[in-house]
Amino acid sequence: MTCKGICTRYKAQKPVGTGRYASGQRRCQICEIFIKWEGLWCPCCGYRLRTKPRNLKYKAKLRARVEADAAASVQVRTSEKSEAIAISAESAEFVSTTMKTAVSEGWTKTKTIAELRKSEGMTVKKAKGLVDEAFGVRSKPIAINA
Ligand SMILES: [Zn+2]
Ligand SMILES: [Zn+2]
Repeated sequence: MTCKGICTRYKAQKPVGTGRYASGQRRCQICEIFIKWEGLWCPCCGYRLRTKPRNLKYKAKLRARVEADAAASVQVRTSEKSEAIAISAESAEFVSTTMKTAVSEGWTKTKTIAELRKSEGMTVKKAKGLVDEAFGVRSKPIAINA
């Protein structure tokens, strides 16, 4: 398996805006050339052609991007989770008591939300959600951790 110089006839130009493999070019490791060739084997030396990149730099770049994406999504999930935990652990009893009082004494939604907001880590959105749930669907139990 040696280069016979035939491959230069099929030599592929570097494409603009895309990768060589992405544009259908194939690499012969023996001839050390990218060629425009449909077959699996080099028309010059007969060696198996490469159709996917094996460049370590390229792979590392790809892996780094995947890892960065994963880290970002984990970070989002963790912050959401910690907020929920903070509310359920520290304020569950307060919220529960407030909601019971609100329902039994017939507080307005606004007053209930205001009371709930005194709870540690309680956001307006969360308070509104709890109030809507308690006032809207009374048959269902109040889901504090929802
Ligand atoms: Zn060759
Ligand atoms: Zn070759």
